[in-house]
Amino acid sequence: MKNRKPLPLAFAGLQIHPGEKKRIEIPVSRLPTQTWVSIPVQVIYGEKPGPCIALISGIHGDEINGMEVMRELVPHLDPKTIRGSIIMVPVVNVFGFLNNERYLPDRRDLNRCFPGNPKGSMGARLAHLFTQEILHKADYLIDFHTATVGRMNYPHVRTNLRLQKNAALAKMFGAEVIMHTSPTEGTLRDAARKYKCQAIVFEGGGPNVFNNEVIQKAVSGTWSVLQKLKICMPPKKIKPNPKSKLYKSSTWVRAHRSGIFRLTENLGDEVEQKQPLGIISNIFGDTIAKVKASQSGTIIGMATDPKVHKGEAIVHIAKTS
Ligand SMILES: [Zn+2]
Repeated sequence: MKNRKPLPLAFAGLQIHPGEKKRIEIPVSRLPTQTWVSIPVQVIYGEKPGPCIALISGIHGDEINGMEVMRELVPHLDPKTIRGSIIMVPVVNVFGFLNNERYLPDRRDLNRCFPGNPKGSMGARLAHLFTQEILHKADYLIDFHTATVGRMNYPHVRTNLRLQKNAALAKMFGAEVIMHTSPTEGTLRDAARKYKCQAIVFEGGGPNVFNNEVIQKAVSGTWSVLQKLKICMPPKKIKPNPKSKLYKSSTWVRAHRSGIFRLTENLGDEVEQKQPLGIISNIFGDTIAKVKASQSGTIIGMATDPKVHKGEAIVHIAKTS
């Protein structure tokens, strides 16, 4: 644990003491209009010593599911009964959030900028601030994401299953689908590993919407982690975790004709190799191509826009091997 003794936690020059539940603003930079932009943070600091877990959302500004997960948790988190601390950051990329945008105003992906650089690009500076203020303190981290524009994801957890502690955290969350992915350089997950912070990514739903079914799975998974780390108990008994299935890789089925795509299977369905997944038709509805599974596995992502171009990725299948 990075914070064995319950010493005050410092954020942007402010101190939070054991037993406190506080909201703070971490100043980032000024807009061209000179208005300050800051990251809103909520800290629940338990009276008893324990681990520090960070719940993070909105690194991609249009991925807002995690914000709703935190809203559901907060009223039940009491520093008197918590062991350790919980740091919640509902929106990291505040710029993207305000503009319904995945990226920063300079078109950079914040999730390729970690751990950052105080003298670098806009993204590098924001990543550096986040690393110093949040990541540096956390023993555990859950980073909530959704699919990108035009796609939808089945709720699942991604982590590096080769790292035992990461795999253990993913199992505590208890998602039906746990996907092994080696972290890409510059992601928060990659930086977390360097800071000895155990991190998982939750993926589910799509951008700019609250998908309630996905949010409820994320809420119960997060309660399960908080309970298993002995940070706090959920307010009511949570549903037992589904049996997790581990997936080692994934592949995208691509459209081999341009046209209108109709998926006949659903997210979460298990499919066999060569099984029909849907059809591509012309604009009048005449079938021009059948789409088949390139591999056996589980459908974890799909295109939501029926208009597809030849070569476009349309169905994402996770494989157990
Ligand atoms: Zn994302």
